[in-house]
Amino acid sequence: MVFGTIFMMGANLFFGLDLLLSIATSSAVLILFFWTIFHQDIGNTAYNIAFGAFYISCFVFTSYINFRLNRERHHVFLNATEARKQHREAVERGKALLRLSNTDYLTGLENRRAIDQRLRDFWGEWQNSGKDFATLLVDVDFFKNYNDFYGHQAGDHCLVLVANALKEAMLPFGGLIGRYGGEEFIALVQTENADKVEEIGETLRRTVQSLAISHEPRKDGLHVVTVSVGASFTHLQCCEKMERLVTDADRALYSAKANGRNCVRIYDPADPHTGDSNEHIAALLRTAVQKGLVSVVYQPIINLKTGHVDAVETLMRMNLLDGSPVPPSVFIPIAERTGSIHDLGLWTIRQACKDILAPRLSPIVSVNVSPMQLKTKGFAQTVAAILEEYDVKGHQLALEITEGIDMAGQSDIILCLKDLGAMGINIWLDDFGTGFAGLSWLRLFNFGTVKIDRSFLQDCDSQQGRIMLKDIVSLIRNRGHKILVEGIETQDQLLLLQTMRIDQGQGYHLGRPVALPVLQDLLRADKSADIAFLPQDTTPKIVRKAATD
Ligand code: C2E
Ligand code: CA
Ligand code: CA
Repeated sequence: MVFGTIFMMGANLFFGLDLLLSIATSSAVLILFFWTIFHQDIGNTAYNIAFGAFYISCFVFTSYINFRLNRERHHVFLNATEARKQHREAVERGKALLRLSNTDYLTGLENRRAIDQRLRDFWGEWQNSGKDFATLLVDVDFFKNYNDFYGHQAGDHCLVLVANALKEAMLPFGGLIGRYGGEEFIALVQTENADKVEEIGETLRRTVQSLAISHEPRKDGLHVVTVSVGASFTHLQCCEKMERLVTDADRALYSAKANGRNCVRIYDPADPHTGDSNEHIAALLRTAVQKGLVSVVYQPIINLKTGHVDAVETLMRMNLLDGSPVPPSVFIPIAERTGSIHDLGLWTIRQACKDILAPRLSPIVSVNVSPMQLKTKGFAQTVAAILEEYDVKGHQLALEITEGIDMAGQSDIILCLKDLGAMGINIWLDDFGTGFAGLSWLRLFNFGTVKIDRSFLQDCDSQQGRIMLKDIVSLIRNRGHKILVEGIETQDQLLLLQTMRIDQGQGYHLGRPVALPVLQDLLRADKSADIAFLPQDTTPKIVRKAATD
C-alpha cells in the first residue's frame, strides 16, 4: 500500500510522465489495490473504507495536480512555439528590410548604399591581398532630354531596360552592377589588366546601344539610347582613399561626355584629359584672379558694310605659374565643372567694363558666358551692379551664349536671359550650328545677333558648303537677327561674306585677339580712319593695314 501510494505520487507528480500514461499507471495501482482488498480479504470493512478512500483521494488529488502541471507545461510549450515563430518572422522581416534598403526600388539592382558597402569590401581585398578591381560609372546620354520628350514613365521604363541589360552583360565578367543615382549606374569588377577594363566598358556601352531604344530628339546623329562609361582601375593608380576611385571614374566619365558621349574612358593619371593636370588647373583656377593667372584679350568685330569696328569680343586667357598658357578649350570646361567659372565670368565682365566700356573705347563689348552662370540665382542683378559700378549702360554690353547646351526645359536660363534683356543687355547666340539645338534656341529666345560658327565658312571652299551657308544666313535673316560670321581668315572669305550682305565679321584676317594696349592702338586707328580701305565703290571695302596679333 505504501509503495503503491509512493508510485502513484511519483507517476503523477515527479516522473514528468505524459498525463494519460501517469493516469493509466496510477489507475493500475488503484485497481490492484481494490482487487487485493476484495479478493485477499486483508482487513475488515472499516479498514477497506478508510484505505480505499485514502487511495481514491490520493489518486484524484495527484491526478488533478498532474493535470494542472501538464496544462501549465502545455501553455509554456505553446508560448515557446509562438515565441520561436515570432522570432523567425522577425528575422525574415529584418532580412526583407535589409534587402529593401539595399535595393533600388525601380530597377531592382543594388542601390548606392549597398554598392558603397561592396566598394568597401573590394577595397579591403585590394589592400589586404592586392586584388585589383575596376570601378565603372555608366551614365545614360541625354537622359534629361529623353525624359522631357517621352515623359517620366517612359524614362523609368528605359532605365529598367538599361539596368537589366547591364546586369546581364556584367555576368560573364563576374562583376556586379548597381544604380548609383538618377541615370547613373556603377559596376565593380575584379580584374588584372587595363585592357580588360576597357573591354568591359565597351561591352556595357555596346550592350545598351544594341537595345536600340528609340531616342528621336537627339541631335548628334544617333537616334537610340546610349551610355558613356568612365572607369578607374586600382592598377593604374595608388590612392589612399577609397572615394578617390569613384571621383576618378567620374572624371573619366566627364571626359567621355566631353568627347561626344557614347564612348568609354579610363582614368589615367598620365592623360591630360582625365589626369592629375586637370586637378592642378582646377586648384589654380580657384585663386587665379588673385594670383594674376588669368587675363583677357580682345578681338575686334568688324562691320562688313562700313569697315569699322562695331564691337570687341572679350576672351579669357590663363597661364600656369611658370607662365605657360593653358588653352581655353582646357581650362574653361574645368572652370565650369568646378564652379570657378562663376567668379571668373564676373571678373571678365568687370574687366571688359573697366578696359573698354568705361573709357568708351568701343560702343559694344561682348563677353562669353557659360550656361551655369545664367543658372545662378542673382546673376542678372550682379551684372547690373557691375554696369552701375563702371557707369555703363546695358546696351553697351553683349553676352555671348553658346548653343552647345540643350536649352529646352531650362526655364531658369530663359528667365535670366529675359532679365538681362530687360536691362538692355544684348544677348548673342554664339557658335550657331555647332550644337544640337540651334534652331530651337532661335525659337525660345529673341537673340540680337547670331554668330555663325567658323566651320561653315571653312566649308565654303565647296559649292555645297556655300549653299549651306547661304541657307543658314537666309534662315537667320528671315527671323530678323543680325548676322555675324566667325573665323574669317582670308580675303576670299571676306569677299564672299560681303556679297552675301553679312552684317558683321570676325576672324584672324580682320584682327586677332590682342591685349588691351594693342587694341587701344587699333581702335584709335579705326576712329581716325587710319585703316586701309579699298576705293569706296569697289568691293571688298576693307583691307586691314596690319592684322595685329
Ligand atoms: P568662341 O566664343 O567661339 O571664341 C572665338 C574663338 O575663336 C577664340 O578662341 C578666338 O581666338 C578664335 N578665333 C577668332 N578668329 C579666328 C579665326 O579667324 N580662325 C580661328 N581658327 N580661330 C579664330 P579662344 O580664345 O581660344 O576661345 C575659345 C573658346 O573659349 C571661345 O570660343 C569661348 O567659347 C571660350 N571662352 C573664351 N573666353 C571665355 C570666357 O571669358 N568665358 C567663357 N565662358 N568662355 C570663354
Ligand atoms: Ca564667343
Ligand atoms: Ca564663337
